[in-house]
Amino acid sequence: MSFNLNSLVRNNIRNLKPYTSARDEYKGKEGVFLDANENAFGSVTSELHNRYPDPLQWEVKYGLEKIKGVSVQNIFLGNGSDEPIDLLYRCFCNPGIDNVIITPPTYGMYEVSANINDVAVQKVNLTNDYQLNVNEIIEAINSKTKLIFLCSPNNPTGNCLDNNDITKIIEAFQGIVVVDEAYIDFAPDNSLLPVLNKYANLVVLQTFSKAWGMANLRLGMAFASQEIIQLFNKVKPPYNINGLTQKIVLDALKNVSKKDAFVDDILKSKNQLIKELQKINIVQKIYPSDANFILVKTKDGKKIYDYLVENKVIVRDRSNVSLCEGCLRITVGTPDENQILINYLMKY
Ligand SMILES: *Cc1c(COP(=O)(O)O)cnc(C)c1O
Repeated sequence: MSFNLNSLVRNNIRNLKPYTSARDEYKGKEGVFLDANENAFGSVTSELHNRYPDPLQWEVKYGLEKIKGVSVQNIFLGNGSDEPIDLLYRCFCNPGIDNVIITPPTYGMYEVSANINDVAVQKVNLTNDYQLNVNEIIEAINSKTKLIFLCSPNNPTGNCLDNNDITKIIEAFQGIVVVDEAYIDFAPDNSLLPVLNKYANLVVLQTFSKAWGMANLRLGMAFASQEIIQLFNKVKPPYNINGLTQKIVLDALKNVSKKDAFVDDILKSKNQLIKELQKINIVQKIYPSDANFILVKTKDGKKIYDYLVENKVIVRDRSNVSLCEGCLRITVGTPDENQILINYLMKY
C-alpha cells in the first residue's frame, strides 16, 4: 500500500499557519504571567479558574501513555469524540468534492458531521449478521474517498467487527480508516491499539464517556501517527480541553482498577438482563453484545418504546433503522433499573 499523508490533506490545512498562544512559547510553570490578558487577581468563584489550561494537555497524555501503551506523540484529546470526528473531515475532506464511506447501521455522528462539512457519504450496509461487506467497501472506494468510518464494538448493534476484515480494508485503502472503539473497555482484547504503529492510515477513537463513567466531562481520545496528530493539533481550537476536565481525568487515570471494576459489574448486570429478557414473549431476538448495551428485536418496537416512555423508562428506539427493524437499544443499567424495565416489559 502506498499511503501518502501529504497528498491526502486539504491544501488550506497543509498551508495553514496555526494560531500560537502565549503559553505555547513559554513552557515554564513559574513566572509573572502578563501575556494572556487573564485576571491576575483571581476568579469570581471560590476556586481559581483564572488561568488558561495547557493547550496540549501533556500531563493527561503522559498518564494515558502508561495505561494505553501508546506514546504521547500519538495521542490527541478532544472535546468528546465528536471533536476528532469533525477534525478528520476538516483536515482531509474538501467540501462538495470528497466523500467518505460509512457502514450502516452505525453511529449517527459520522453522517451528521459529513453533512455539516458538506461531504458526500457512501453507505455500504453491514451484512445480516452485522459484519463488514469487505469487498463491497473496497469496490466503493474512488479517487475522492478520503475516510472510512468503522465502529467496533458497533453502535447500535453491539458486536465487534472482525479485525481481519478491518485490517484488509486498512491495507487496501490509501485514505484514512477510522476505527471508533468507544465501547472497547467492554471487549478489550479486540482493540487495534497494539497494531497502531503498523498502519500509517489508522485512526483509533476512544472515549471517557462510557466505561470510565465521565460522559459529563466531554473527553475523547484519538490515537494515530504523529503526523496525523500534528494535523489535528494545528486545526483544533487552542484550548479545546478545559482545565477542570484535565485535572479530574488526571485523577481518574490513577484509578484504572475502579474503571475495570465498573466493567465487571456492568458485564454481570448485562448477563442478568439478557437472562430476564429471554423469558419475555414480546422479545423476538437478543443480538450478541460486546458492549454495555443490548440490541433487542421486538414484535412492535415503536409501540413498546412509547409504552416504556409513558412509564418513564427511556430506551433508544432503533425500530425504523434499516437492518434493525423492530429493534430497541437498551443500555445496561443497575440491577434495580433493569428490574424496573423487565417488570414493565412483562406487563406489556
Ligand atoms: C458514545 C459514543 C461515542 C462517544 O462520544 P463522546 O463524544 O466521546 O461522548 C463515540 N462513538 C460511539 C460509537 C459512541 O456510541
